[in-house]
Amino acid sequence: MKKKIYKAEIHVHLEATITPALCRKFAKRNQLEISEEIFGNDYTYAWDDFYDFIKKYDIVTSLITTPEDYYDLTYNYLKDCAKDDVLYVEAMVSSTHAKMKGMTYHSFMEGVTAAAKKAEKDFGIVSRYIMNGIRHLGPESVHKTAIEVLKNPHPYLVGFGLAGDELHFPPKLFVKTFDMLKKENFPITVHAGEWDGPEKIKDAIHLLHPTRLGHGVRCIEDINLVNEIRDLDIVLETCPTSNIATKIYPNYREHPIRELFDKGLKVTVNSDDPPFFNASIGGEYDAMSQIGFTDNELLTLTKNAITYSFSDNESKNNLLKKID
Ligand SMILES: [Zn+2]
Repeated sequence: MKKKIYKAEIHVHLEATITPALCRKFAKRNQLEISEEIFGNDYTYAWDDFYDFIKKYDIVTSLITTPEDYYDLTYNYLKDCAKDDVLYVEAMVSSTHAKMKGMTYHSFMEGVTAAAKKAEKDFGIVSRYIMNGIRHLGPESVHKTAIEVLKNPHPYLVGFGLAGDELHFPPKLFVKTFDMLKKENFPITVHAGEWDGPEKIKDAIHLLHPTRLGHGVRCIEDINLVNEIRDLDIVLETCPTSNIATKIYPNYREHPIRELFDKGLKVTVNSDDPPFFNASIGGEYDAMSQIGFTDNELLTLTKNAITYSFSDNESKNNLLKKID
């Protein structure tokens, strides 16, 4: 029998956890059309290249249209994670998406948090949420999203993230927003070093002051930057299966996670957009085990995720106690 390894993840896009079964359920409930061609199999979607992935991603997530959908989405994902001995999930959500579908900031968050509470009661899994600004909608959209978060404190909303098109919307466009968040001591994570290289990671760190980087793995191309990230104690939310699916690295052995871990960086593993990449948090841990991470090293990944999560200290201590 496989040994039980407690897990945690801090980089998953909630809207992107939608499974084909939920797609069909939401389409039926909301009377929307969905082409069967979009499905790869029971768990995944069919897509060819990155642009096709983005296209399919938009089609699939556009089916999430009500707070009830958000409830089902959240509960379903947490239930699956709990089966994999996941203790904690910190998921990114998008009020921009919710509003495009006619929900309000409060109505969609209500759906999410009601499910989070029910899942915690049913399975013991704890979850918190990060609001994402979407870079390719422009600096003003991201700024508005951040202001709304600061004006409406919510116990389950513990951080702010920057996601979307990294290549065409560099960090310098978002300085005003992230200065404002820093002034309010609001926790920050930024996608950087997934599509773009070390220079943009440096800009993200110096201009937007995140304590965590979404991916960040391409820092490996510049040893000085690797040292800087270690010295600043910045955490990497790595997503190996996602990087392999989008062809940034050919396989797990050639993914830099092992080297970054050995160089003393605070590394975590995460599923990112699980069904799109045929990924799961359990699958990430299995893959790491196959490339030589020991059980103790896997638990270090879990402890990193919990210790550097944006949750409150009491919840963190309770979760860390469970592991020991
Ligand atoms: Zn991501």
